[in-house]
Amino acid sequence: MKNYDKEKYKIWNWKHPMMLHWIINPGVAVSEFVGVVTPKVLFIEKDNSKGLAERTYIPCPHCDTIHSGLKWSKQNNTHNKNWYGYHCDNCQETIPPLRNWFSALVFGALKPFNNNNRERWKAAQPARFENLNMTFEAKKITIKKGLKISLFFGGFMFVFMTLYYWLLGESLSTNLIIMNAVLWLIGGLCFGFIMRAFANRQIEKSIKSRQGGKLEADS
Ligand SMILES: [Zn+2]
Repeated sequence: MKNYDKEKYKIWNWKHPMMLHWIINPGVAVSEFVGVVTPKVLFIEKDNSKGLAERTYIPCPHCDTIHSGLKWSKQNNTHNKNWYGYHCDNCQETIPPLRNWFSALVFGALKPFNNNNRERWKAAQPARFENLNMTFEAKKITIKKGLKISLFFGGFMFVFMTLYYWLLGESLSTNLIIMNAVLWLIGGLCFGFIMRAFANRQIEKSIKSRQGGKLEADS
């Protein structure tokens, strides 16, 4: 990406802490298994008054279109099933995803059994990107949803670490398993609620910037 508006956007690639986290944390693999991926390059609008979701843009390396990140969002039901990357509805190519190391291993191992899926996936994409709602629905993440994320992540890390000990040749004593379960219950809760706090702060920003805009329009 050579020609982009450096005044308007900062670039996030693998060197950014959030992106590095995406690559390193094995728990992120669970997201990738359901097709929640992140592109290799993000443009983040420098104007800090809006929330992150509204400031995120995704450049297509094939046609150089700069897409709003809202194209791949929960509100459009396009946030998941993006296993191979983000479908560009301008040139119909696929914007390559950043890969988490663990999901890269699993996807790599599955590749020989997965010959036709990419074509089938590609053929199914254009229909998903018709009639998109490009107005951000600023909905906060509830405590219930935060708990769900926590248990999902903690549960995965528990299984992952138990397998890891087993591969190292540790005997899986009841004590070890209980300790591991407690550790990842706490770890999962910390992770889930830090993510929730971060996301909700961004969503609050969006709500506030909109109310500010509305007040200006009213006066
Ligand atoms: Zn494109």
